[in-house]
Amino acid sequence: MVTFKTLNSTFMNKRKFLKNTVMATTGMTVVPSLVLSSCKTEPKKEETVEPEAAAATATSFVLPPLPYGYDAFPDTIDAMTMEIHHSKHHQGYTNKLNAALKEANISGKTIEEILTMDELPTAIRNNGGGFYNHSLYWDILTPGNEGMSETLATKITEDFGSEEAFKNELATAGAKRFGSGWAWVCQDGDKKLHICSTPNQDNPLMKVAEQMGTPILGIDVWEHAYYLKYQNKRGDYLQNIIKIINWDKVASRMS
Ligand code: MN
Repeated sequence: MVTFKTLNSTFMNKRKFLKNTVMATTGMTVVPSLVLSSCKTEPKKEETVEPEAAAATATSFVLPPLPYGYDAFPDTIDAMTMEIHHSKHHQGYTNKLNAALKEANISGKTIEEILTMDELPTAIRNNGGGFYNHSLYWDILTPGNEGMSETLATKITEDFGSEEAFKNELATAGAKRFGSGWAWVCQDGDKKLHICSTPNQDNPLMKVAEQMGTPILGIDVWEHAYYLKYQNKRGDYLQNIIKIINWDKVASRMS
C-alpha cells in the first residue's frame, strides 16, 4: 500500500527530473512516466535516466508531480478530490494529449508552442489545454502561504486598485464562468496584469481566447475541482483557494 506520505516523498525526489522533462517534447526516444509507475504498486522500481539526457529525448508530455501531498490542504481541498483530480483527470489529459500529438504527427514543440498554433485540432486544444492548465494550477498553490511580497502587492495595487479589489475580481471571474472553465490572471505585452476567464480547457495562450495574455495564475472552476467538499458552492471554493496561492510562484511567472 502506497501512502500519501511515501507517494509524496517519491514525488519530491522526482521533482528535478520532471521539472526538466514535463514541458520538453523534443527528440524521439520514449521516456516512461516515472510518476505513474511509482504511483502504482512498485514505487521503488524506477528508471535511472539522467535528467539532462531524459529532457533531451522525451517524446511525450509527462504528468508533473505535485509539490505537496494530496492531503496538503485539509481546510480547502479534500485529499480525495486532490488525488482524483491529479491522478485521473490531469493524467487523462496528459495521455490524450500525447495520443493526439502522435495522431497529428506533432513533435519537438513545447506545450506553449503547441497551444499558440494558429489552428488547434480539437483534441489538442482540449487535452493540451487540460495538461497546461492543471500543471499551472498545481504549481501556484502552496500549503505554506505567506502572502504577497511588497513588490507584487504594489504591482497589483497599481493595476487593480487594491489587493482586495484584485481578489474580488478574480473570485468573480471564476464564479461567473457558466459551466466548466478557468479564471486567470495574465500579463499583457505591456506588462499590465488583467483577469479573465475561459471555457472548458481553453486558456489565454490560445488564439481562440477572447482576451489573450501570458497566464501567471489559473484557478480551475470545473465541478471536479471542488464538488466533493463544496457541492454547488463554487463561491466558497474560490474564496478559500485564493488563500492558498503561492504568490512568490505567481510573481516568478511575470516578466
Ligand atoms: Mn480540473
